[in-house]
Amino acid sequence: MIVGVLALQGAFREHQRALAGCGVDSVLIKKPEQLEGISGLIIPGGESTTIGKLLNEFSLLEPVKKMGEEGLPIFGTCAGLILLARNIAGSEQPRLGLMDITVERNAFGRQVDSFEVDTDIPALGPEPFRAVFIRAPYILGVGSGVEVLASFDGKIVFARQGRFLAASFHPELTGDLRVHRYFLDKCF
Ligand code: GLN
Repeated sequence: MIVGVLALQGAFREHQRALAGCGVDSVLIKKPEQLEGISGLIIPGGESTTIGKLLNEFSLLEPVKKMGEEGLPIFGTCAGLILLARNIAGSEQPRLGLMDITVERNAFGRQVDSFEVDTDIPALGPEPFRAVFIRAPYILGVGSGVEVLASFDGKIVFARQGRFLAASFHPELTGDLRVHRYFLDKCF
């Protein structure tokens, strides 16, 4: 099995390392033909407007969207979560729109641009998960097919809809592989 990691901008190498830690091969995706043969895809954090623009420029937006609609498991972190969202508050920026969620960008405010917090994620077991938030979005609302996996400060920060998984935080920046393992176990 090979999992693709979208590598247009952002923290793609860290995801590749996390997948390697899970014993899974990966390929960096920069061109449509590299999508062939992948069993899943990770969309990293970075800047969602830039990644969205590049998805269009590199003719990746439509093929990835189609593969998602046809059942490809996709995991988005931070900017990747924004790109998975159907609705982005106050923005018309390009997106995949595969998940029935509404997100707010840069939602935790300027004073707390970045922070880390131990977060309870029951789906990962009793040990809290150290979640790293960097200019993070949160999920304002979810459709009926979406399972909320974690909240922080009353805001939804981790959710799943079938084969799609979205996190506001950056599990690739900690050594804890439980979120990646969850994606590989539950979304495939
Ligand atoms: N603030 C970024 C955006 O809106 C996301 C930040 C991140 O991915 N760390 O795209």
